[in-house]
Amino acid sequence: MFIESFRVESPNVKYTDEYIESSYDYATTELSHENRRGAYEWIVKPASVKYHFRTSRRIPKLGVMLVGWGGNNGSTLTAGVIANREGISWVTKDGVQQANYFGSLTQASTCRVGSFQGEEVYAPFKSLLPMVDPNDIVFGGWDINGANLADAMSRAKVLDIDLQKQLRPLMEQMVPLPGIYDPDFIAANQEERANNIIKGTKKEQLFKIVADIREFKAKSNVDQVVVLWTANTERYSDVIVGLNDTKDNLFKSLDRGESEISPSTLYAMACIHEKVPFINGSPQNTFVPGVIEYAILEDSLIGGDDFKSGQTKMKSVLVDFLVGAGIKPTSIVSYNHLGNNDGMNLSAPQTFRSKEISKSNVVDDMVASNAILYKQGEHPDHVVVIKYVPYVGDSKRAMDEYTSEIFMGGKNTIVMHNTCEDSLLAAPLILDLVILAELLTRIQMKQDQEDKFHSFHPVASLLSYLTKAPLVPPGTPVINALAKQRAMLENVFRACVGLSPENNMLMEYK
Ligand code: NAD
Repeated sequence: MFIESFRVESPNVKYTDEYIESSYDYATTELSHENRRGAYEWIVKPASVKYHFRTSRRIPKLGVMLVGWGGNNGSTLTAGVIANREGISWVTKDGVQQANYFGSLTQASTCRVGSFQGEEVYAPFKSLLPMVDPNDIVFGGWDINGANLADAMSRAKVLDIDLQKQLRPLMEQMVPLPGIYDPDFIAANQEERANNIIKGTKKEQLFKIVADIREFKAKSNVDQVVVLWTANTERYSDVIVGLNDTKDNLFKSLDRGESEISPSTLYAMACIHEKVPFINGSPQNTFVPGVIEYAILEDSLIGGDDFKSGQTKMKSVLVDFLVGAGIKPTSIVSYNHLGNNDGMNLSAPQTFRSKEISKSNVVDDMVASNAILYKQGEHPDHVVVIKYVPYVGDSKRAMDEYTSEIFMGGKNTIVMHNTCEDSLLAAPLILDLVILAELLTRIQMKQDQEDKFHSFHPVASLLSYLTKAPLVPPGTPVINALAKQRAMLENVFRACVGLSPENNMLMEYK
């Protein structure tokens, strides 16, 4: 059974005009160990911690500025949102297609809210808390290429031509602002694209981005802006003591115009300066330690890294399933080939390396969770290959081979082949990232004994479900398993409306 929305009635929850307030008992465990008669014994004590959540019900008018707006993802997302907003349908060889938000966690997935007369009842994920409606988002942003969004959409070759024809007049006037271009950070093959660039020193470039954000906010009449990097993958920046290891050193380096400060780091710094959430959808280390320190000091939300759209998403499901089933993956080999501009940029070794790193750590937490299968320090072989094949365009191919050890020395090999337009997978994730980032800035929390409400930690680990290499606060465990990431997000939101976590016990039926 499906319901559109619901209201929670409980002594622990209060709805005012301004807020949804909830008190919540967080059930956890405390661990200790004792040495009893020479033997180590672990003690686990169930514990409960009282939290209070307060979520503002005032949904702002949201502006989203994309870095790399004219790229495949940027143009596909913009086109998709306009098509949904305008209720556009188009003819394909399979019939008439309506615009939709398939692939978006917030817009197209549901949560179980309970059971009614023996039937399971589900509500949209977006009904858990008040969220921005994607159709209301105003888009803008930067690109080092000056093509308008209609031309960018046709260059991307992602959407059906009948749809493109209808969208063209609505997108022609959308022109990206000049972007920060540094040829040292992306592949040399991107040079001829760079015809729309900000001049000046690194510091001047940063403050141009600050001015752009302010102007966009004023001109488009939005209450809040979120910025998201969906531009080319950069190479890693060197993290060097004295250069970018602290906030102060980063700012001193900026004054000196140090060449190792990447464009993405400059955009991130501009956003933190403006207290505008910044999300990194590519794999590079935009968030060098100095940026993270700056974001924490300013309490300005940052999230990343690298959209988790296809192959890695499957991996974070499949390896979780295998290891959770007591099966031991010993070799994971992943090939990709793609023919879009992202693929061309990734054909340079330095940018490929960023992607390789971000794809490689994804099974770590699952491997570490099972010492029955893996000895200390043992890890499956894990290889990632990416090749540029222009003919396939945005239609990325991902081929994976998982070999595992099973019962009594047997071997099991699973092979997967995945084909689809990369940008149609990434665009809904971008939507979720910006909608959730905005929502996270409206949630306040405190433990019972704390005096004041405060935001979640500015390093937004709650966005992990959507990213390949989740950025988490220093000293926090990284969770890659997809089901756990989704459960974290859903259960935290449920706590904000006083509902207990989804525990799947279904005691009603036992
Ligand atoms: P794309 O090459 O089509 O678009 C990137 C755009 O960024 C281009 O228009 C380029 O001109 C622009 N650009 C480059 N440097 C810039 C800068 N410094 N400032 C402003 N604009 C700049 O790529 P895409 O397919 O849209 O992917 C975008 C990013 O998302 C890539 O880094 C890719 O690795 C990452 N990503 C994509 C997916 C996916 O499924 N599509 C998944 C994970 C990560």
